[in-house]
Amino acid sequence: MKLVIAFLVLFSLLAVSSASEKFDFFYLVQQWPGSFCDTRQGCCFPDDTKPAAAFGIHGLWPNYAKCRGRQGLVRAMLGDDAFLSTVGRRGKCWPEYCDDGNELSPWEIRDLVASLDRSWPTLSCKNRRSFQFWSYEWKKHGTCSNLEPHDYFARALALKAKHDLAEILADAGIVPSDTETYPVSSVRDAIAQGTGFVANLECNRDADGEAQLFQVYQCVDRDAKDLIDCPLAMPTKCTDRVKLPVF
Ligand code: AMP
Repeated sequence: MKLVIAFLVLFSLLAVSSASEKFDFFYLVQQWPGSFCDTRQGCCFPDDTKPAAAFGIHGLWPNYAKCRGRQGLVRAMLGDDAFLSTVGRRGKCWPEYCDDGNELSPWEIRDLVASLDRSWPTLSCKNRRSFQFWSYEWKKHGTCSNLEPHDYFARALALKAKHDLAEILADAGIVPSDTETYPVSSVRDAIAQGTGFVANLECNRDADGEAQLFQVYQCVDRDAKDLIDCPLAMPTKCTDRVKLPVF
């Protein structure tokens, strides 16, 4: 009998822990559109309307502070399906696709659409409707956020609205240019000074193979309300000097 009770307690604890994702912080990832568009793949604009020359949201991503190692015991106890939905299918540095059946409905975010159109536009030629981009981000990352869809998108927008990254860079003399390059350390310092928190930077390559600032990863607390210093450095693909191409 004791064994049965112990098993039931263990089972209910596991059920509770898999319902609420145990990530450590969020990345709010913002992207410079000039650096998305001037690569070999190019870009397309939603409804053929060019977005503003401003950083746009790529996503709000739950992340672990430490990538997870062997999960054999959990896998054995939960079975493969529950394991995969808890820990993530690919990387174990973040959870993803936590609830595959949970589709984003346009109705749930109807009052946010105008702001999302401005701040979270698609640039992909495969996904030419921004709603598809938001739905993809919701399914992959949002379903692991412990937030309802409306809060997930509203908090990402509110965080972005706190600081205008293009303005912060311009104040430090870092303005879009197709010829100028800037020390990556001054980009990092400008963002730390302008927002009060250290962010991670990611570069990509333009069609000529030159490094350019592509994405800024700001770290955010588990409620998706306040910025924090990034607990993790990440591979940046940046060189000592980087471009910020005109958009
Ligand atoms: P994720 O899986 O959340 O890391 O996002 C990566 C996917 O998002 C890739 O397929 C990218 O091509 C796509 N992506 C990145 N930026 C944009 C953007 N601005 N518009 C549409 N798709 C994007």
